[in-house]
Amino acid sequence: MLDKFKDECGVFGIFGNPEAANLTYLGLYALQHRGQESAGIVTADGEHMRASRAMGHVAEAFDEASLQALPGHLAIGHTLYCTAGQSRLSNAQPFLIDCSHGQIAVAHNGNLVNAGELRDELVRSGAIFQTSSDTEVLLHLYARSKAPSIEDALVDSVAQIRGAFSLALLTKDRLIAIRDPHGFRPLALGQLGDAWIVCSETCALDLIGATYVRDIEPGELLVISAGGLRSIKPFPPSPLSQCVFEHVYFARPDSYVFGRSVNDVRTELGRVLARETPVAADVVVPIPDSGVCAATGFAEEAKLPLRMGLIRNHYVGRTFIQPQQSIRHFGVKVKLNPVRSILEGKRVVLLDDSLVRGTTSRKIVKMVKAAGASEVHLRISCPPTISPCFYGVDTPSRAELIAATHTIEEIRKYVGADSLAYLSLDGLRAAVGTGQRSYCTSCYTGVYPVAFPRDEHAYLQLALKVVD
Ligand code: SF4
Repeated sequence: MLDKFKDECGVFGIFGNPEAANLTYLGLYALQHRGQESAGIVTADGEHMRASRAMGHVAEAFDEASLQALPGHLAIGHTLYCTAGQSRLSNAQPFLIDCSHGQIAVAHNGNLVNAGELRDELVRSGAIFQTSSDTEVLLHLYARSKAPSIEDALVDSVAQIRGAFSLALLTKDRLIAIRDPHGFRPLALGQLGDAWIVCSETCALDLIGATYVRDIEPGELLVISAGGLRSIKPFPPSPLSQCVFEHVYFARPDSYVFGRSVNDVRTELGRVLARETPVAADVVVPIPDSGVCAATGFAEEAKLPLRMGLIRNHYVGRTFIQPQQSIRHFGVKVKLNPVRSILEGKRVVLLDDSLVRGTTSRKIVKMVKAAGASEVHLRISCPPTISPCFYGVDTPSRAELIAATHTIEEIRKYVGADSLAYLSLDGLRAAVGTGQRSYCTSCYTGVYPVAFPRDEHAYLQLALKVVD
């Protein structure tokens, strides 16, 4: 409904708790913001594996009966936002297959940039695919591996895939976590009593009362079994490319991602933005919910009051997310309503975390002015988004990204603001704070850390530059 990059997926896994399915269900609740199309859980009890997957939110996908039908002390779960493939039940994860290495289930966050190429090769050699998901490619490679052990077969198959992958895998008696060597997507390790947990964000640990231990490292393969934890780093090291957009928008502010509090980073983005783009104003108003942290930092730094001048209706169902233009336009008003007593006669700094097509911002600026604001100064707590993502985030094509085809002044005119300013790339890097080379910033630079072997021409029309 709002004009944002779409979240990717959430993964969760637990080893060593008799309530594994219930805890995974709770973990998926905490990760719901990462994907709302489908949810699934696979459990194992040392002998048997069982799966339950359904379309919709976690609350819709499971009930007491379906959770009771998932016994076992091991489980993995997944919330899906479809970035590769279509939104349908056959694409809902975790996938569970049986092959010469035994049963294995996989939950994947990310996007494999060479999945199409690998899939074509596999199909030519007789493979039959049941889904349109890139993740199924990995399972075919695993099933075909002649390696003698599960771990070796995983190393063998994962070594052939490229791109972004934070994986939770389950066999009948072990939980395995793998993070790609670039570390695009987060993956945390936690502990609850004797049980071990892996999850996309630490907010899932908080919900079940688990403690954060550390991040799964880029390029790490961690096996958790009755014998304990075994970590190996079998893949060639690659330059770190952690997704900076996790901090800008995706992750929940109560999570720690890539070793830093999302709330702290987001607030700092606002502070830096206030220093870089000062403006005479009376009040700072966030576009809720995602603009709140940055607005707090902006208001602190600018010594302006922060007021909730836009109220979000949290109960708008997905029924409003319809392809028809008429319903979409209505949707913004359903979701956000201005508070006239805060806005009337005020010079307003309107704070948002990102601006993708500009269509929603235009409506919100109009709404704030209609509520009586004398001036609206739009501030965006990240740089202009000029290029799409190929690493597990659903983005419009380059042609649809307003900053790719328009100057800032043209965008200002389009959204109807009195002024418009973005955070600089240097400001973003300074706020994130761990050195320029740690983060992927491709959607702001058009420079891509992992090349695209397939259909390179089509990709390069979208990408400005690929370095690998
Ligand atoms: S292109 Fe943007 S959204 Fe995609 S991984 Fe890089 S920083 Fe994240």
